[in-house]
Formats: sequence, C-alpha cells, structure tokens
Amino acid sequence: MLRGVSRRRAKRPDNHEDDSASLTEVTATTNIVCPHCDIVNRIPAARLGDRPVCGKCKQALFTGHPLVLNDGNFNQQLTRSDIPVVVDFWAPWCGPCKAIGPIIEQLAVSFDGKVKFCRFNVDDNPLTPVKFGIKAIPTLIFFKDGHVAEQVIGLVARAKLEEALNKLL
Ligand SMILES: [Zn+2]
Repeated sequence: MLRGVSRRRAKRPDNHEDDSASLTEVTATTNIVCPHCDIVNRIPAARLGDRPVCGKCKQALFTGHPLVLNDGNFNQQLTRSDIPVVVDFWAPWCGPCKAIGPIIEQLAVSFDGKVKFCRFNVDDNPLTPVKFGIKAIPTLIFFKDGHVAEQVIGLVARAKLEEALNKLL
C-alpha cells in the first residue's frame, strides 16, 4: 500500500514537466456564448459534451440549430466564443441561399458543441455585411477566435464545407 503511494508520488513530476502547461490543463475552460441571452459561460472543457446549460437563463448552450444573428448581437457572439463560429450571410429572395439553408441545418446537428452555426439576414441588418465586405450571397464566413479564418462564396457541396470545418477544429 505504502509502496503504491510512493510510486504515485514519484510519478507526479513526470506528469508535470512544464508547470504552466499543466496548470492550463487543469483549469481549462471554454467560453460559450449563450444563444438565448448572449451571456458568456465558462464551461470546463471536460463538461462540453454533457449538454451544458446557461448559468443565467438555464437554457441549453448547444441547440443543434443555427442561431439567428443580427447587427445587435453579432459582436458578442463572435468575439467571446472560444469555439469556431460559421455565419451564413443570406437573404430571403436569394435562390442559392435557400439551397444552402438545409445544409447549414444539417451541419449544425453534426457539429453541435464543436462549431456554432449562425444565419444572418443581410436585408434586415445592413451594418455587419458592410464591415465584412459581403458583396454576394450566400457568403459563409468561418470565424476562429473572433477572426476570419475562411470564406466561402456561393452554393457549395456539403462535403466541401465539412472539409473546411474539420480544418478549423
Ligand atoms: Zn442564457
């Protein structure tokens, strides 16, 4: 028994070669912006798969559905999220946008908890599209750590989007 304890003790330094790195590991949390109330939740990385709920409004942080963004909540949802965010800039009159909509819905299910999918109506919200230089729709912008990581213009196959998503993770 004692031998077991001393062994474990002896082993510890091996697991903690770099103090700063192990500290990060122990306390690792992921900022998830609530899709319902826009509050930032710090979720321990190990609990991300446990259907976490918002500390404020108690609703599910991961819904499996694209979130509707607008000029008002765009910045908060984008800049405070630790998981990649994909925004589908679209308009109701646009045929290819209608075609890409169901693909976004499907991806929101398969990447639930890993990537946040959002839909952004450019007709109702003129400010953000100008800021990102959106000239054609549909345009998908992939954000990582609040910065543009990838941009896809026009209707593309689901496989192509999945490929781009897997590069982000
Ligand atoms: Zn909430």
